[in-house]
Amino acid sequence: MPLVRLFILTRFKGGITMKILQEGNPNGWEIEQECTGKGNGNGGCKARLLVSGNDIFVTTHTDFAGDTDYYYTFKCPCCGVWTDIPEKDIPISVRSIAMDKYRNRDARTMQIYLDSIEKRNNL
Ligand SMILES: [Zn+2]
Repeated sequence: MPLVRLFILTRFKGGITMKILQEGNPNGWEIEQECTGKGNGNGGCKARLLVSGNDIFVTTHTDFAGDTDYYYTFKCPCCGVWTDIPEKDIPISVRSIAMDKYRNRDARTMQIYLDSIEKRNNL
């Protein structure tokens, strides 16, 4: 079994070749939000948006003591400004998916992830 697992991991690291035709919304969760730029310097365009779990990505802030806070953020498709959504407004299942994506990121996959959000928002 460990051999099989190693093989799969290696294949995965070699790159994903499948194309996403349409992203799913596994738990069907959506929330209405206003683009405010809250937590990201403000300056949002006040667009009213229906944000789903796929739109959310994790951002962080590390203070001088080295403590890191995590935020659940979406990017406005109208103006590109990032807005944080209060953690309490997001179900734990959605938060854990976003956190998994964050933890498994490397520079390349994070860029692909952000590009995919951008691409979908520009459709
Ligand atoms: Zn906006």
